[in-house]
Amino acid sequence: MDCLFCKIAAGEIPSTKVYEDDTVLAFNDINPEAPVHILLIPKQHIASMAEINEENSAVVAHIFEVAAKIAAEKGFADGFRVVSNCGDSAGQTVKHLHFHLMAGRDFGWPAG
Ligand code: 5GP
Ligand code: ZN
Repeated sequence: MDCLFCKIAAGEIPSTKVYEDDTVLAFNDINPEAPVHILLIPKQHIASMAEINEENSAVVAHIFEVAAKIAAEKGFADGFRVVSNCGDSAGQTVKHLHFHLMAGRDFGWPAG
């Protein structure tokens, strides 16, 4: 499958890894929108949040545990944002489920 984040998960395309285990990879976004901007992905291909179901949601729960741990380790436990863009109208450009973990500045709401 021609999927950028599958290739990053497989190590075929390099990334700056922040965290890795058997099912989850976290790496720095190549075009950061905040001082901390990390992408968390399941290693298995899930196209977007719209594809989360009973069979694959355990890895999503695990991603959120990892996100909380990373935020705490980096000293942002009381101020960070996690975003997942789902679909073209929401601005999803890579069609492999990912969560943006951003911290280190103030964020407006509602998000544009
Ligand atoms: P989306 O727009 O789908 O919500 O988020 C995709 C994110 O992937 C963007 O923030 C973009 O900067 C990042 N990105 C795209 N290509 C690469 C890449 O090759 N390496 C890394 N580390 N990030 C990438
Ligand atoms: Zn993929």
